[in-house]
Order: sequence, then C-alpha cells, then structure tokens
Amino acid sequence: MKVPIKGEFKDALPVIETLQDAGFEAYFVGGSVRDVLLGKEVNDVDIATSAFPEEIKRLFKKTVDVGIEHGTVMVLMDGESYEVTTFRTESTYQDYRRPDSVTFVRSLKEDLKRRDLTINAFAMDNEGLIQDFFDGEKDLRDHVIRAVGKPEERFNEDALRMMRAVRFASQLGFHLEADTYYAIVVNAHLLENIAVERIQVEFVKMALGDYILQGMEAFFTSNLFKFCPGMKHAEVALRRFSLIPRPIKKERHVWALLLYFLGIRDSKEAASFLRYWKVSNQTINDSTRLLELIYYRHHRPLNQYQVYLYTPELVWEAEDLLEYIQLPSDKSHAIKLIQSLPIQSRKELNIDGKRLMEEKDARGGKWLGEAIAMAEKAVILKAVKNESDSIVNWLRKNKYI
Ligand code: ATP
Ligand code: MG
Repeated sequence: MKVPIKGEFKDALPVIETLQDAGFEAYFVGGSVRDVLLGKEVNDVDIATSAFPEEIKRLFKKTVDVGIEHGTVMVLMDGESYEVTTFRTESTYQDYRRPDSVTFVRSLKEDLKRRDLTINAFAMDNEGLIQDFFDGEKDLRDHVIRAVGKPEERFNEDALRMMRAVRFASQLGFHLEADTYYAIVVNAHLLENIAVERIQVEFVKMALGDYILQGMEAFFTSNLFKFCPGMKHAEVALRRFSLIPRPIKKERHVWALLLYFLGIRDSKEAASFLRYWKVSNQTINDSTRLLELIYYRHHRPLNQYQVYLYTPELVWEAEDLLEYIQLPSDKSHAIKLIQSLPIQSRKELNIDGKRLMEEKDARGGKWLGEAIAMAEKAVILKAVKNESDSIVNWLRKNKYI
C-alpha cells in the first residue's frame, strides 16, 4: 500500500533523504504511520534508520543526544526536531519491563519485530510505501488489536504492553484478538512490576478514548485493573465508568469521575488515592475540587461566592460532569452566576493594603488579611460595589477597619 506524503511527513523528508543519500535505510515508524493509515491527524513523526547513532550525528549539523544508549538522536532541522532511532533489537528481559541490553542492527524487520502491536509496527518510506511484515493493515481493517509475535512472550518482556493494548482498544474502538486477550488474562499480574507513572499514562489515555466501553471492558474482564493502585475492588466502579454517555475531555475529569464511581468522597482520601497513582499535584488539586463540587451539587444549587472560590472554569466543568453521572445539572444557572460575577479574581478588587493601612492608621497584620477577604466576599455577594470608597465605607461600618 502507498499513501501520499503530506504535512509532518513532508517536512521530515529531508531527514530521511539525507540518511538515504548516505547509503542508509530510513523510514517513518510507530504511531504516526498507524495514524496516517487511519486517516487521523499526525503529530509527531518518528524515524528509524539503519545508521548507528554516531553515523546519524555525522550527517546532520545540529543534533542532541536524547537517548543515545537506546539509539535515539534528536535531529534539529528548519526549526523542527525529529527523533531518529537506530534499528534495534532487545535482548532478554528479566524484570518484565526493561531489556537487559539493546543491540543496534541494520535490519528494519528486526526493529519492527520488537514493537508492541501489529498496528504499531508499520514502516513507511520516503515515497509513502508501507512496509507491513505482521499483517497490521489487515488488523487495521478488521479493527483488531494484536501483539506482534507471541503475545505471552511479548507481555512477559514488557508488561506495560498489556495496558497499551487496552488503551488502543479504547482509542480506536478495536477489539482484542483472542490470543492477545487471553495472554493478558494470564499475565495481568505482571503489571505489578511496572512503574505506576507508566501505567498511569496508559490508563488516562484509555479513559480519554472515544470508545471507553470497549477499552474498560477489556481492562476489567482481563483483571488488569486489579494490579493498578487502589483498584482491587473497583469492578463495579469501572463498570459504571465504562457506561458514561460521551467521551471524557480532560485528565482531571477522568480522576474526578473515577473517585466518584469508587465512592470516595473525602477530599483527603481522594488526594491520597491520587498520590498513590502519582498524579501531579495540580491535577490532584483540580480533581478533588471537582469531586467536592459534584457532591455539593447533589443536593444544593451553587451561590456566587462558591463559583468565585472554585473558579468559573471548574464550576462549569463540574456541571458537565453531573451529566456523565446522570444527575441533574443546571448549566443555565451556572452561566448566570459566572456571567454576573462582579470580579473574577482578587486582583480585580479595587482596594489594596496600603489604602486600608492609611484608613485605619495602623500597620499591617492579621486584621488586614481579614479585611481584604471580607471585602472580597462582600463585593462578590454584591453587598457593596467594587469601588475603593464604597469598600472602605462598608469595612468601616462593619468594623473590619
Ligand atoms: P501515541 O499516539 O499515543 O503517541 P504511539 O504508538 O506513538 O502512540 P509511543 O509511546 O509514542 O506510542 O511509541 C512509539 C512507538 O514505539 C509505538 O508505535 C510502538 O511501535 C513502539 N512502542 C512504544 N512502547 C512500546 C512498548 N512498551 N513495547 C514495544 N514497542 C513499543
Ligand atoms: Mg507517539
């Protein structure tokens, strides 16, 4: 099969051609070739070559060693950067995650053999001709996720591949080929050898997939979930999760929904669950706040001060999440509250510490922080206009200064 070389591939052609002109083989490989065959937008193109790292470096003016021990050199050209990796094989794996050694080879097929799934094991040359040694094109047509080679061996080499398989099922709406699925069922426990950070990346991509029902189904029927942090008894939660009415848009929504379905309500408990999953602090913060909003909205409408404190962005997102869990939302009320907020943040408050210290004729202290917080609340609840004099008068009347 041949596809037209366009966009990112076209930009990267000079890299492939420079390698070829020097007598080496060079191809586009990995996710970008899969995506172009699926008619999807292509973002990062990866290049594989028979040239060894030192040979790659000699051919290009600007390169950066990004993972030279794995054979990866970054080539900088026309303001773009391209990862160029030497064809390689991986020798025995003793810890279910990392090869004991990497060997550079001159054969494309050897390189493609070590890749995880048939749909990720294509190569495409400078003319758009697809090399397909493992019937990946057929699997793409049939909507099948299949390991390259013997699934059992491949998952023993690197157990993360099992998560990748269900992640692609969820992103593409494909189903797992029987032997591949069976090998996951048998080897799911090997996931325990994999760093949580790597599992997390695949879990989030799965949860954000357009076909979460397919992905989640495979994730729980294969028992993979039992070897993920804090998920031993998550079956019911995951079933509910898999039935959400439309795809999830953001990582923090994934976590907020998961926490909700798991019945975790307390913010501290939620945060420690997410820390266990090695979620970033910012995302922990946002997800637990979303969770608080969801529970609050179970039985009460919001007021303007809460919209301000939680930020309009999270309030709006929480209203959206209520629909995912089939609870009544009130987006028009949320919009009304958001649009009529007198200020969006404390920076817009028309009063500052200096003015208040002058008014009270006192130095700063605890009183000052409290006065500003009260002014902020009063402005938001529209007890007073956001004007310096009005705020000062209101604070004085209420004995805050
Ligand atoms: P995405 O679109 O999410 O980036 P991708 O397939 O490009 O998906 P990457 O993690 O960027 O995924 O990996 C690039 C390529 O490297 C894959 O297409 C696959 O050929 C190979 N690969 C990645 N991870 C593994 C793995 N654990 N085992 C074997 N091959 C892998
Ligand atoms: Mg990629």
